[in-house]
Amino acid sequence: MTAVAESLMLPQAASFASAEHGAFIGGTEISTDGSTIDTVDPATGRVITKIAETDAKTVDRAVESAATAFEGEWGSMLPARREELLHRLADLIEENALELAQYDALEGGKPVTYVESVDVPLAVEQFRYYAGWPTKIQGATVPVSTPNSHVYTRKIPLGVVAAITPWNFPLCQAAIKLAPALAAGNTVVLKPSELTSLSSLRLAQLAVEAGLPAGTVNVVTGTGAATGQALVSHPQVSKISFTGSEATGRHLGAEAGRSLKHISLELGGKNPHIIFADADIAKAATYAATTAYFYSGQVCFSGSRLMVERSAVDDVLAAVKEHADALVLGHGLDRTTTMGPLSSAVHREKVEGYLNTVSGTGAKVAFGGSRPKDGGYFLEPTAVVGPADSDAVVAEEIFGPVLVIQPFDSVEELMPRANSGKYGLTAGVWTNDVRKAHTVAQRLQAGTVWVNTYADYNAAAPFGGFKSSGFGKDCGPEGLEKYLETQTVWMSLA
Ligand code: NAD
Repeated sequence: MTAVAESLMLPQAASFASAEHGAFIGGTEISTDGSTIDTVDPATGRVITKIAETDAKTVDRAVESAATAFEGEWGSMLPARREELLHRLADLIEENALELAQYDALEGGKPVTYVESVDVPLAVEQFRYYAGWPTKIQGATVPVSTPNSHVYTRKIPLGVVAAITPWNFPLCQAAIKLAPALAAGNTVVLKPSELTSLSSLRLAQLAVEAGLPAGTVNVVTGTGAATGQALVSHPQVSKISFTGSEATGRHLGAEAGRSLKHISLELGGKNPHIIFADADIAKAATYAATTAYFYSGQVCFSGSRLMVERSAVDDVLAAVKEHADALVLGHGLDRTTTMGPLSSAVHREKVEGYLNTVSGTGAKVAFGGSRPKDGGYFLEPTAVVGPADSDAVVAEEIFGPVLVIQPFDSVEELMPRANSGKYGLTAGVWTNDVRKAHTVAQRLQAGTVWVNTYADYNAAAPFGGFKSSGFGKDCGPEGLEKYLETQTVWMSLA
C-alpha cells in the first residue's frame, strides 16, 4: 500500500489492509499457504496486499464448516436468539463504520464519504430489517378437500448458501445476501470479488464478535474461475445467491441447472431515465447527473440511458455538464473526492472502447472521454448525445461514467424504445403530470421504477430485475422467501 493511502486510514484499517489474507473458515482466518492474488488500489495502480486464491480443497472445508453450523448450533438456535445476534451484528457494523468504509474506498476506489453515508447505513439497515423476521416466519394450515386430514406447511431454510458478490458494493452486497439468508436460518459461504475482499473478511470477524456460532459465516477469497467455480459446483451447497454480470449469471444458471440448486440472479442493467419537458428540469437534471456519475457509473442501477423530451435536451445537457465539471476526481480515501477511478486498467479500456464506437454513428461525445491524470484508472465524466437505439453505447451496460442522452418526441414513440433493451433492472420517470407518470411507470419493463426521484433503496422494498437483469428479489419479504422452502405435512385424523 502507498504511504499516502496508509496515512489516510485508521491505524487498525491500514494494518488489516496491508496484511496478507486467507479464507475465513470456522470462525477464524486461515493462513495463505497456496497461490495468492495481488489486490490493487485503482486510484494509484499500486499493489495493496495479497489474498488467497482459495483452492477447491479449502472451499470444501468452508462448505463443511457451514454445513456443520447448519446442522448444529445455528440451525437449532431459537428464533428470538437469532434476532438478537443479527441486531448485535448491525450494531457492530455501525460502530466500525469508518473502518469498513475505508476498505471499500481503498480497494474499490469509491469516495469514502459516500461509502460512509450510503453503503454502510444500507448494510446496517439490511441486518436490522431482517433481524425482525426470524420470529415471524410462519407456515399455514391448509384446507384440503380430503377427509380426516390435518395439513400444514412449514417454512424451512435451504442449508448452505453460496453467496457470490461483485466488486462495486462489497460491504452492502455481502449484507444484502447474509442478512436474509441468516434470518431464514441458513449458513453461508461468501465469495467476494477478488478485487474487493477486505470488508467481507472484516464483516465475518464482526459476525463472530456478535456471537454468531463459528462456521455460520465463512468467506473464501479468490477468482471466480477457481474459487467461485469450486464453491458453486460443491454438492453440499443448496443455493447460489449471485450478484454480478449477465455473462457470469448465465454461466451460473447453467451450473445450477446441472446440479439442481436453487439460484437467484441479480445482474446488470442499462436503465432508461426519462425526463418529460413538464418536469422540474433543474431537479431532474441534478438526479440524472448524480446517478450517472455516482461511483464513476459503476452501479447496476445507474441512470445511464437518459431519454429527454426534445425541447428540454439543451437545458438538461447544460445542467448535467455543470454537475460533471464540479466533480472532484481523486483517491477514494481523500474526503474531498467526489468521483474515484474505475475498478481496473482492463475495465477502463473496455469503457474507452465504447467511446471509440461513437464516431460515425451520428452521435457525438458532448464532453469528457479523456484520462484526466496519470496514475490510477481515472476517466472523466462523459456524455454522449444522440446515438441510435441499436448503438453499443445505448444497448449495452458500459459500467463507467458515460451518460448517454437521447431525445424523444412522444410517449408512444418513447415506450417501445425505452423497453427495447435486453435488460430490465430499473427506470426513472420525471413529469408533473400524474396520469402520464403512472401510465409510463406501468408500461416500463423494469423491476423498479422511480417517479420524480431516482436510486432510492430500502431493505423493505423488493429490488431485482426483469429480463436479462435476472430474477429473485432482494429486500422485503421476497428477499427472505428465496432462502426458504416449504414443507407440507399431512396428518391422518382417521
Ligand atoms: P462478475 O460477474 O465479473 O463477478 C461477480 C462475482 O462472480 C465475483 O465475485 C466473481 O469472482 C464471481 N465469479 C465469476 N465467475 C464465476 C464462476 N464461474 N463461478 C463462481 N463465481 C464466479 O461481475 P463484476 O464485474 O464483479 O460486477 C459488476 C456487475 O455486477 C455489473 O454487471 C453490475 O450491473 C452487476 N451488479 C448487479 C447488481 C444488482 O443488484 N442487480 C448489483 C451490483 C452489481
